[in-house]
Amino acid sequence: MKKTLFLVTILFSTISFAQDTYLHCGKIIDTKTGKVLSNKTIIVSNNMIKAVQDGFINPTNALDKAIDLKTKTVMPGWIDMHVHVEEETSPTHYGDEFTLNDADIAFNSIGYAKTTLMAGFTTVRDLGGTGINVSLRNAINKGKVVGPRILTAEKALASTGGHADPTNGYRKDLMGNPGPNEGVVNGVDDAKQAVRQRYKNGADWIKITATGGVLSVAKSGTNAQFTQEEMDAIIATAKDYGLQVAAHAHGDDGMQRAIKAGVKTIEHGTEMSDATMDLMIKYNAYYIPTLSAGSFVAEKALIPNYYPAIVVPKALAIGPRIKATFAKAYKKGVPIGFGTDAAVFPHGENAKEFIYMQEAGMPAMKTIQAATIVNATILEMEKKIGALEVGYLADIVATNDDPTKDITTVTNVVFVMKDGIVYKQL
Ligand SMILES: [Zn+2]
Repeated sequence: MKKTLFLVTILFSTISFAQDTYLHCGKIIDTKTGKVLSNKTIIVSNNMIKAVQDGFINPTNALDKAIDLKTKTVMPGWIDMHVHVEEETSPTHYGDEFTLNDADIAFNSIGYAKTTLMAGFTTVRDLGGTGINVSLRNAINKGKVVGPRILTAEKALASTGGHADPTNGYRKDLMGNPGPNEGVVNGVDDAKQAVRQRYKNGADWIKITATGGVLSVAKSGTNAQFTQEEMDAIIATAKDYGLQVAAHAHGDDGMQRAIKAGVKTIEHGTEMSDATMDLMIKYNAYYIPTLSAGSFVAEKALIPNYYPAIVVPKALAIGPRIKATFAKAYKKGVPIGFGTDAAVFPHGENAKEFIYMQEAGMPAMKTIQAATIVNATILEMEKKIGALEVGYLADIVATNDDPTKDITTVTNVVFVMKDGIVYKQL
């Protein structure tokens, strides 16, 4: 009896793994050529794309199934290079620091992760939280939690009082003296130790706050916050451990230091000068604009008490400037990826970034390419994600309309598959 049950179990698990899914795609975006193709069938086997064929091919095996996306536009799952999956904006956000336990943050992050995936983002880079993001990544990878594939920086690195010093604005007896373990660095040795600690904690990337920032309880939103020596030490150590570095930066000096030290991406880039744009091109550093965050903070800063008083002037000054910088950088030929800073605005609204990018002068197709093949290249995953070709992971999304004709359709994702599993089908 037991033996029979065992055999039946084996048989059924084999059958379910053998099942292929045929996606009948009315339109499909080829992110490598930037062309919209018509009437294709994508055959998905397990978590991979097994074939892409002309026309609508019907399954011959009775166990295989077809999904009708004939009136939809199908493209690779989107990648957001800048999110914080552990948290989300709210008028009580600053007080949350003193009331939420790790378990509360973890439970919240489960909801944010699911919302992000359902909005069409199948991969995200988390640029800093408390470290719960590492456990969240692992739980998603094991199939215990529904969410996007996460590459995480664990905890961002700052100098004392810098943008990612986790105790800024605290009462003195609560402030303590955070060091490299907590991601706060002063001097070259601290810098090396902080990177090694991130590696030990399971980070996939290193994030530094190269300048002041908008939402920290600190005066300057733009000043340089690491010496060149500290940045050089961070990036050299990260390279030893096979980690790339992302730099938050609004001010030009800190940005220049970070690029010269060898960071892979510059986040926000608000005051990026012409000279810095040239430097980005020379060093092949990618600009991640986060227009969504700029727009959201400028809007919320007008609501009394939404942010602490010290944050309001920074939000009003910095937020609205990013779009013009992005427009200029795009015209100049700076390499540009797609990233939103979700958490600064509600998770799930990440796709608005496509609309903002197009408004600033980037053609719709280029915005889609930024969120797929370009971001995949930054992550060094361009042979796995970001395109719909044989051998790629089956991360596939669809919109009602063709986003190259009407970009606003990106906020209306009707189909989401990640790793071959359908999570949304409207
Ligand atoms: Zn951020």
